[in-house]
Amino acid sequence: MFDVIVIGAGIGGLVTATQLAAKGAKVLVLERYLIPGGSAGYFQHQGYTFDVGASMIFGFGKQGTTNLLTRALDAVNVKLETIPDPVQIHYHLPNKLDIKVEQNYEKFLQNLIAYFPQEEKGIRRFYHECQKIFNCLNSIELLSLEEPSYVMRVFFQNPLACLGLAKYLPQNVGDIAKRHIKDPLLLKFIDIECYCWSVVPAAMTPMINAGMVFSDRHYGGVNYPVGGVGKIAQKLVAGLENKGGKIEYQARVTKIITQQGKAVGVQLANGKIYHAKKIVSNATRWDTFEKLLPTAQMPANEKNWQQKYQKSPSFLSFHLGVKASVLPPGTECHHIFLEDWEKMELVSGTLFVSIPTLLDPSLAPTGYHIIHAFTPAWISNWQELTANEYAEKKEQTAGEIINRLERIFPGLDAGLDYMEIGTPLTHRRFLGRVDGTYGPIPRRKLRGLLGMPFNRTAIPNLYCVGDSTFPGQGLNAVAFSGFACAHRIAVDLGIKS
Ligand SMILES: Cc1cc2nc3c(=O)[nH]c(=O)nc-3n(C[C@H](O)[C@H](O)[C@H](O)COP(=O)(O)OP(=O)(O)OC[C@H]3O[C@@H](n4cnc5c(N)ncnc54)[C@H](O)[C@@H]3O)c2cc1C
Repeated sequence: MFDVIVIGAGIGGLVTATQLAAKGAKVLVLERYLIPGGSAGYFQHQGYTFDVGASMIFGFGKQGTTNLLTRALDAVNVKLETIPDPVQIHYHLPNKLDIKVEQNYEKFLQNLIAYFPQEEKGIRRFYHECQKIFNCLNSIELLSLEEPSYVMRVFFQNPLACLGLAKYLPQNVGDIAKRHIKDPLLLKFIDIECYCWSVVPAAMTPMINAGMVFSDRHYGGVNYPVGGVGKIAQKLVAGLENKGGKIEYQARVTKIITQQGKAVGVQLANGKIYHAKKIVSNATRWDTFEKLLPTAQMPANEKNWQQKYQKSPSFLSFHLGVKASVLPPGTECHHIFLEDWEKMELVSGTLFVSIPTLLDPSLAPTGYHIIHAFTPAWISNWQELTANEYAEKKEQTAGEIINRLERIFPGLDAGLDYMEIGTPLTHRRFLGRVDGTYGPIPRRKLRGLLGMPFNRTAIPNLYCVGDSTFPGQGLNAVAFSGFACAHRIAVDLGIKS
């Protein structure tokens, strides 16, 4: 009998598992795939190490309380070297907006103000308001908001920060941006600043998350792990095992076993059964409540959540190996391409690009770089195709993407050495996420983060962790969810922190 079983070795699951193992709990992680990491995993081919998803990593700062990846690794005595990225994103936008988000805050503001001099005051006020939120977050210990004694303690230690956060919890970025900024083009820029991580425009993006992203990039910064993003999960697993925790791969959970309405164990695809006092699901809420538990018994609050949140699209991913000569001098690691504002939220509209070999050349053979380009795509557009139709559609979309990239990287087509295309079907299969979704997005404008559930569920002893819990997508966000989940479980198990 384990104290805790964690279904899934994504970053949310692994942070929960390592935190609990560090507190002395007997933990088992069950991962359906061959390696840990989920959307923060990797694959290797012909000398290239590709990140499957995430590569713009927050949470590796050295100070404050919001550097949750640094803290998660420290808690299990493992270290991971990282490389600072001086520019978070280089935007290539309509209306000839060519803007770099430098790590240096004032430099970034100057880049933006150069395009919108008449809005200097508004720009400074908006981003300053984001920093106020960040300063509140960064001054308190980030644990479970479902644990009253912690909430009381934090409140008495830092009442102003807590009141500040409570004020912004139900607010969205769009409303606040419009208070400071009038220029419609600048408001579109704020939209894409949000869309590129929340996959919804500013009007639907919670202000708390924006406070974090728009400020931490200038504080802890964006830092890339040496050896690739996959190293984060590998190190967490090493830390888990150091602390006596266990992990099994190719261990697909098909059922959460309940007795008298309480979660008591799990069953694997191979029939094996494990029992534990607490079960944590790092699968998406849809996978958890529609596949691992009988849908007929779906709790009312989960139905309610599904009415507020829907699955975001998946991605079409192009993993390219290219000759180094393709990249002009001064090329940055992360880019966003958009040619038409009307297409920002559409399939194949916004194009995300990462070139991590600019930071860590060891990820590609000498003289070559990796380009990971990805753009939103719905699984429904890739289903019910014959094998030939599927292959042709991949070829056609690759041609379109390469043409778009050629505008910034002329000679890319001729310099191609390797190409792997991942469709939403690939994401579903390898990332283990329903429809290959990036995560939950609001169906309509909601009140900030108020609708995102914490870690406990309506089923006693069953918890959720990861991007379908507060505060949402992104590695640092799911690490937050992992800290909170482990904290709540430790209290429920009576383990002292
Ligand atoms: C293309 C792409 C680019 C991204 N870029 C960034 C970025 O630059 N920066 C950033 O911070 N974030 C980025 N993200 C988002 C980030 O990767 C995710 O929000 C985060 O990794 C999700 O972590 P998680 O813990 O919620 O779960 P996941 O990563 O989804 O992990 C869940 C794990 O559970 C396993 N699992 C599921 N069901 C079962 C089962 N039944 N039995 C056993 N195991 C199971 C899965 O195999 C998986 O390993 C990106 C995502 C994608 C897809």
